Amino acid sequence: MSLILDGKKVSQKLKDELKIEINSLKKKFKRVPGLAVVQVGNVAASSVYVKAKTKAAIDVGISVFDHHLEESTNQEELIDLIKKLNIDKDVNGILIQLPLPRTINEEVVLNTIIPEKDADGFHPLNVGKLSISQYNDKNLLIPCTPYGCLLLLRELNINLAGKNAVVIGRSNIVGKPMAQLLLKESCTVTTVHSKTINIESICKNADILIAAIGRPEFVNKDWVKEGAIVIDVGINRIKVNEEKSKLVGDVFFDEVHNIVSAITPVPGGVGPMTIACLLRNTTIAFKNSNTV
Ligand code: NAP
Repeated sequence: MSLILDGKKVSQKLKDELKIEINSLKKKFKRVPGLAVVQVGNVAASSVYVKAKTKAAIDVGISVFDHHLEESTNQEELIDLIKKLNIDKDVNGILIQLPLPRTINEEVVLNTIIPEKDADGFHPLNVGKLSISQYNDKNLLIPCTPYGCLLLLRELNINLAGKNAVVIGRSNIVGKPMAQLLLKESCTVTTVHSKTINIESICKNADILIAAIGRPEFVNKDWVKEGAIVIDVGINRIKVNEEKSKLVGDVFFDEVHNIVSAITPVPGGVGPMTIACLLRNTTIAFKNSNTV
């Protein structure tokens, strides 16, 4: 039987710790961390994520400043808002919910956020710091999803050094920062992607397999080594029948979970960790700004 890595439980532990920390920061500075949440338009999935992030932030004691803008908002208007948030003393973290409308250049918008308030950890300066070994993760703003994956791995209390880790996917949001984090843990890291040759056999060699592809149940039993640890980042909605749909990961859970030693479920695995790590980044940004 494999261990099911319970993201809900682990994220709750992190949120409980943050709540205590924010309470003591409040006593010390007479202020709490502030998170500006910016959504443009009404993509249904974005609204669900924004609601979940807002609730989680308020629950731990973070002030949330909600900026829900019309779909018709143009790039200049959005950049103007970010510039205001950049100098707003009550705002420590700025979250731009993606995707943005097609008329807006995401890269330009994200790079307008000053690195100190980059709650998602996407700014080139923060990405650079992640890749430089002198920085440890304590004060860094690190992309939330991969950091959440690392925290789940740490829950296993195993020595990650020397483990053969394979990351499927090379996105800026998940795959690349995940590889950097695993490298910092002294894993031997391979990143595979859509152009990789012999991807299945590379994955089958992995002690730790991270799937961040965006293809439902893509990784099946033939891709996975017996006893491997599998972290499934994917969130895909598939049809069950004409009326019903369900969420599945990038890993074919039913085929794989009996072979591996530990695996994350979808939902309830990486997703809740992503939200908790956003709260962590906001708290770090607050502490960095107050030079605790
Ligand atoms: P993305 O930007 O679309 O990147 C997908 C990556 O998968 C790309 O690097 C792509 O390779 C690779 N890929 C696609 N098809 C492949 C194939 N047939 N074989 C091998 N590699 C393949 O996606 P993402 O933003 O990283 O997200 C990945 C998944 O994670 C999605 O399901 C997303 O919904 C989910 N996600 C979950 C959370 C969470 O909180 N749980 C957060 C973020 C994302 P190329 O680069 O060669 O195209």
